[in-house]
Amino acid sequence: MPHASKFPPAHSPDWKDWRWQMRNRLRAPEDFARHFDLSETERTAIAHAAGGQHGEAGTSNLPIALTPYYASLMSRTDSEDPLRRAHIPREDEFLISEGEYADPLGEEKDRVTPNLVHRYPDRVLFLVTNQCPVYCRYCMRSRLVGKLDREHLIPMSQWEASIAYIKNNPAIREVLLSGGEPLALGDERIQWLIGALDSIPHIEIIRFSTKTPAVLPQRITPGLIRALKSDKAIWMGLHLLHPREFTPEFIKAADRMARAGIVLTTQIPLLKGVNDEIEVMKDLMRLCVRHRIRPYYIFQCDPIYGSSYLRTPVARGLEIIEALQGSLSGHAVPHYVVDVAGAGKMPLAPQRYIKSEEGYHHFINFRGEEAKYFDSESAALYDSKYDPTASHSTASRN
Ligand SMILES: *Cc1c(COP(=O)(O)O)cnc(C)c1O
Ligand code: SF4
Repeated sequence: MPHASKFPPAHSPDWKDWRWQMRNRLRAPEDFARHFDLSETERTAIAHAAGGQHGEAGTSNLPIALTPYYASLMSRTDSEDPLRRAHIPREDEFLISEGEYADPLGEEKDRVTPNLVHRYPDRVLFLVTNQCPVYCRYCMRSRLVGKLDREHLIPMSQWEASIAYIKNNPAIREVLLSGGEPLALGDERIQWLIGALDSIPHIEIIRFSTKTPAVLPQRITPGLIRALKSDKAIWMGLHLLHPREFTPEFIKAADRMARAGIVLTTQIPLLKGVNDEIEVMKDLMRLCVRHRIRPYYIFQCDPIYGSSYLRTPVARGLEIIEALQGSLSGHAVPHYVVDVAGAGKMPLAPQRYIKSEEGYHHFINFRGEEAKYFDSESAALYDSKYDPTASHSTASRN
């Protein structure tokens, strides 16, 4: 218990109160210096971020914050601790590399209201807040999060404009609530949103995209569960990183949601030195399915400014998926996705197809053995869209 002297005990009423956790977040350089033996590079980067010089041209704009709960999962002494790497800044964050952008997903061009991104015909992304309980150094919306520090809530009139847009577009079946952190909102606001979406007949699914259960599981109160009651299907996409996040508090929060009929899935950013080991990912997937969370996506880290120290080669992601396919059941293997600016998600999978010859498709299985399957139309199939070596006439963009 490295933090026993710094934090109240885990069974104390304060510790279990999510508002206490929010109020007592580590934000100032002194907070971090008190709780961690900081490395030189962490100390410099924290001072920079907290001093507000962090938004100079091209550099990351991310604020810093950690809930005491999440900080207590990190090593006090080891700055290479996986959760520390992902959440405490270091000077590498100021280094801008080729292929990095402020808006790596190109969301701005698909914006239809100040907080609605409509890219795919049947679903919209609703950015309901800019606030988060913790700020991840790899945040794909680093250009937006934490910017309205004293203005916690997005004005109701903006929400209403977004609801009106959804109401007027019957092709939309699913609304993704993201941010920032949608569960950073109070119960009343969440209930208002659910009520507004419930009243739109063409909406079938309300999906949250949230890191809160991992970093502030205390937020998943019986009151929140009541606020989430809906006639629509509620899906909860949990942002997870590491097996260490499966604490008794987190497991209880996930259990509460699952028992309320909320469908749990997870999206996992792949990060160098955090979770880019096959065994770490295997453990994480096993823990997920065991606790009724369906692994959905592993995301290639989005190229925001200053993210090169956290990004792995794409080949590493493929290697990990291949290892998962070889050892876990199908429902424990997520899709591996590269989100390409302005173009959308590109699911990648290890190549199992080798060639088509004399009516047979040739494959390679999870043990590395070759196998073949007879298909009278084999040549046509892979000569066109599915042959990775053929030139695509229809797929060129821009
Ligand atoms: C990722 C994303 C979605 C959701 O896509 P799924 O593949 O259904 O998870 C919707 N809108 C935007 C803009 C997105 O980036
Ligand atoms: S919780 Fe999500 S939105 Fe907030 S900083 Fe982390 S990645 Fe970004």
